[in-house]
Amino acid sequence: MNRSVANPSSGSKSSASHAPGSQTRRIILTGDTPTGQLHLGHYVGSVKRRVELQDTHECYFIIANLHAYTTRADKPDEIRRDCLEIVRDHLAMGIDPRKATIFLQSEIPAIAELTFLFAMLLPFNRVMRNPTLKDEIKVKGLGENYSFGFPLYAVGQTADILSFRAHGVPVGEDQVPHLELTREVARRFNQMYCGVSDKTDDDDHVKLGGVFPIPKADVGKVGRLVGIDGVNKMSKSLNNAIFITDTPKQVQSKIGKIFTGRQSPTAPGDPNNALFQYVETFIPDPARVAELKDRYKRGDNIGDGHIKAEVADALNKLLEPMRQRRKQYEGNDQPILDILKEGSARAIETTEKTLALAKDAARFGFFKRRIAYDNR
Ligand code: ATP
Ligand code: MG
Repeated sequence: MNRSVANPSSGSKSSASHAPGSQTRRIILTGDTPTGQLHLGHYVGSVKRRVELQDTHECYFIIANLHAYTTRADKPDEIRRDCLEIVRDHLAMGIDPRKATIFLQSEIPAIAELTFLFAMLLPFNRVMRNPTLKDEIKVKGLGENYSFGFPLYAVGQTADILSFRAHGVPVGEDQVPHLELTREVARRFNQMYCGVSDKTDDDDHVKLGGVFPIPKADVGKVGRLVGIDGVNKMSKSLNNAIFITDTPKQVQSKIGKIFTGRQSPTAPGDPNNALFQYVETFIPDPARVAELKDRYKRGDNIGDGHIKAEVADALNKLLEPMRQRRKQYEGNDQPILDILKEGSARAIETTEKTLALAKDAARFGFFKRRIAYDNR
């Protein structure tokens, strides 16, 4: 896919407005469903970008645990465990909870309330036409038997993003259709309840009285890392992922499984195959990548096994510091729960403000309320 969706950090604001501590820092919302641990696809598709953005933007990272119930409602213990494991993965990959807010979706009432309202702003058929939903139904083998809540998660995701009035959403390319749905909801809300005209440019909605900025997807350089099956997107649910907790040996053996169909080191190979996506993504030296590509194409006595060993080596170099950092957070849940509680409290504060604005605009802002944790 081409990167036609603009990068939020290249918006019209000057760089001074991105300075840490500035009131006008632009807002980022993104996150993960706790359907397993984070893998290399998450890292290259979204988390690497999050680590950069946490220094310059107001970042909120959601653990979308309610969305995990759309396909795993019968496995509540696993979902709970994965929430904590994903936070550990975040910390290992370089997210700093002093810079960014990591929180649990289920702790944020405004998200559920806005989901209900936004569900009224989207035609049912529009939601069901979403290609990412259709693909998930197919790939996860959900058939006709998915829950009512399964397609509702696409609406819920619009609320995840808009309840923070986010400007940018760093995501992999599978999420772009969800972002498009979110942009439609934001426009419709601003037009229906805030008097914004349908001729208004996306960038001018808030200036002209809209509650919601029209958010932009920020697709990473590698928007879709293929899994070790060489076919599907690397995915927690498809058993084709390399996790950051995998040992060096596991990484070697998983990379060894990538199927290329090539017969011998002297057969000309296709440098657009799955193995070469790994070469291009993970071997850091561009000159070496170019050399490997050239020799592979010509069948210049270079075996797949040799290339796989180089890829595994590069991956293990990338993952080793993450594994080390992760160790500090293993074996004790309390520090992870503390991060989530603190982050959720901050997220409640931000989203309650948005909810109040949205309720006033949609004429059901009757009374003011305050939500707080009981700290006894
Ligand atoms: P599931 O199989 O449960 O849907 P997932 O592996 O697709 O899990 P998500 O939690 O849905 O993970 O995605 C979190 C973020 O990581 C999203 O922004 C998504 O686009 C990105 N992402 C996930 N897999 C990849 C991948 N293989 N390549 C690039 N980005 C990815
Ligand atoms: Mg997914």
